Amino acid sequence: MSQLTTFGRLSESGYDFVDDAYLESLLVGPADPVEVRDIIGKSLAKQPLSVEETAVLIRAADPQLVEEIFAAARQLKEQVYGNRIVLFAPLYIGSLCVNDCVYCGFRRSNRQAVRLTLSPEAIQAEVQALLSRGHKRLILVFGEHPRYSPEFIAECVRAVYSQSLGYSRIRRVNINAAPLDHDGFRVVKSAGIGTYQIFHETYHHATYAKVHPPGTRKADYLWRLDAPARAIEAGADDVGIGVLFGLYDWRFEVLALVAHARHLFQHYGIGPHTISFPRLRPACGVDYKSPYRVPDEDFKRVVAILRLAVPYTGLILTAREPAALRRELLGFGVSQIDAGSRIELGGYSHTPAKQELEREQFQLGDLRSLEEVIYELLSDGYIPSFCTACYRVGRTGQQFMEFAIPGFIRNFCTPNALLTLMEYLVDFASEETRTLGKQRIAEELAKLPENSRKARLIDRLEKIEHAGQRDVYF
Ligand code: SAM
Ligand code: SF4
Repeated sequence: MSQLTTFGRLSESGYDFVDDAYLESLLVGPADPVEVRDIIGKSLAKQPLSVEETAVLIRAADPQLVEEIFAAARQLKEQVYGNRIVLFAPLYIGSLCVNDCVYCGFRRSNRQAVRLTLSPEAIQAEVQALLSRGHKRLILVFGEHPRYSPEFIAECVRAVYSQSLGYSRIRRVNINAAPLDHDGFRVVKSAGIGTYQIFHETYHHATYAKVHPPGTRKADYLWRLDAPARAIEAGADDVGIGVLFGLYDWRFEVLALVAHARHLFQHYGIGPHTISFPRLRPACGVDYKSPYRVPDEDFKRVVAILRLAVPYTGLILTAREPAALRRELLGFGVSQIDAGSRIELGGYSHTPAKQELEREQFQLGDLRSLEEVIYELLSDGYIPSFCTACYRVGRTGQQFMEFAIPGFIRNFCTPNALLTLMEYLVDFASEETRTLGKQRIAEELAKLPENSRKARLIDRLEKIEHAGQRDVYF
C-alpha cells in the first residue's frame, strides 16, 4: 500500500486502497446461482453491494443468470431513477497535454494532433452555438498542461456562465480535468463548478504503469487515485469517477470502481455522484493494441452490474458508443447521456460535415443532434431532462441524495424534468418533437397523484408554455 507521491500532500484518505491480488482472487471460479439471486435481492432492496458481492455477480456468466441480472438492473433503474434521462454536452477547451497516455489523441508525442486552446471569444461562440440548440448543462474538458491552471479553468467556467441567449443560459458547468491540489480545487469550486469528474483509466497497477509512461505527471497513480478525495475535502459538491474500459480486464475494473465508491463513502459519507464507463475508441495517431477490448455483450454486463452495485450513483453513457447500443443500454441503468456532442475543438460553432480526427481526442460513435436524441427518448417513453435544480438550491451531498428523502423523485426530479422539457419544446423543438413531447408530458401528469403539488406543476407548465416564464423549478 503506497503512500508515496511526487506532488505534495495527499488527502485524509490518501492511501492506495486498490489491492490487485485480492481483487483478482475474487474473480476466480463460477458463481453459485443461489448466492447470485440473494445478492440481486439485496440490490433490489436498494442496498449498495460490497466488492465481494459485486464479484459474485461478475462471475455469473451463465446466460440465464446474466438475463436475471439485466432484468434486475432494469427494475432497479426504474425504481430509483424513474424514466428521466439527464442530457448534457461536452465542451473541449484545449488539446495541449504534457502526458503521453498511449490511448489518447492528445498525448504529447502525437505529431498529427492539431494543438488548440479556445480563446475566451471562441468559448463564447461555442456556448452560443450550444445554447441555440437547447443545451443547459455542459462538461468542460481539458488536457493536462501548465497553461490549464486552476485559475484558467475557473475563467473558462465563468466565461460559460456569462453567456445568455434570449431566456437561455448554461445552468450547470461540470469539469473533467487533471488532478489538482486542494488549493486548485478551491479555485475551481469558487467559479461554481458542478461535478469534478476524473477517470482513473485503469485501476490495475501494472497496466496503469504501461499506458502512462514514467516521467509524466499522469504516471503518479496515487496522485490521481486520490484526486476525488482531495476535491471533496476542498469543498466540491459532487465528484464523478470512471474507468476507460478496454485497457484491462473489465471484471477487475468494475470491482475497483466499486472499491473506490465505497472508499469515498467510508471516509466522507458521500459516494461519487456519477460513474462513467468510456470504452476505448479509435483516435488520430493512436495504434495501441489492447487484448482487453470489451465486446458489447460484456459491456452490457458492466452497466447492469454497476447499476446493481451502486444503486444511488448516476451512471453516464457517452456518445463514444453507437446510437443503437446507447438506446439499449439506457434501459438498464444509465441516468445521464450527452447528446448532440462534437468534440473537435471549436466544433459547435464550426461544425464539420465529417469528424475531424486530428482535432479531437478520439472518434465519437453517435453524432445525432440533440433534437434527434430527444425525439428518440420521447418515443421510447423517457423524459429528457435538463434539470439543475438541486445543485442550484443547495440540495447536494449525502442528506439530499435522491434516495435519502422519501418521494424525492416524485416531488422534485419528475416535475423538474417536465418543466425543463417544456422549456426545450417551446424554445427549440420542431413541430413534430413538440407534439410528441407534449403528449409525453400529459402522460406523465396523468400518473401523478391529484394534490396541490401537481396543481402547482400544471400552473408552472402553463406559464412556461404561454406566459414566457423560464427557469422555474421545485
Ligand atoms: N486530460 C485529463 C485527464 O487525463 O484526466 C482530462 C481527461 S481526457 C481529456 C477525458 C477522458 O477521455 C480521459 O480521462 C480518458 O478516459 C478518455 N479517453 C482518452 N482517450 C480515449 C480514447 N481513445 N477512447 C475513448 N476515451 C478516451
Ligand atoms: Fe493528456 Fe488526458 Fe489525453 Fe492523457 S488522457 S494524453 S492526460 S488529455
